[in-house]
Amino acid sequence: MTTETILVVEDNEQNRILMRQILAYHGYTVLEAADGLTGLEMAREHQPALILLDIQMPVMNGFAVIRELRKQPGYLGKCKVIAVTSFAMKGDREKVFQAGFDEFVTKPIDTRKLPELIKQILSQVEPHEPA
Ligand code: MN
Repeated sequence: MTTETILVVEDNEQNRILMRQILAYHGYTVLEAADGLTGLEMAREHQPALILLDIQMPVMNGFAVIRELRKQPGYLGKCKVIAVTSFAMKGDREKVFQAGFDEFVTKPIDTRKLPELIKQILSQVEPHEPA
């Protein structure tokens, strides 16, 4: 059985650890990056099934990363990406979807809802063979 790979791009170590634990518990293979630029490079290299992308990060924030991802030809251009945000969205909700994210979650991470959301999103995707 192959497990689906999820890339967590998040500068906050505690949040990264929490997400890694939740995802590993649910059987996913977890890759991690602590800043947006590294995350983008890892996305190119590993072609993950889904990306959890923090918005507020040093070097390259989540909006800059999604902008680059959506420019990519082939798989990465349409790879499922969930925004992870620490601020109340309200008016920013539209901004997130317009930027090309598929969904968003707010911190603190809901340890039950996150895997449900991921499962739901991945079920909409046709299985892909990593490049
Ligand atoms: Mn952050």
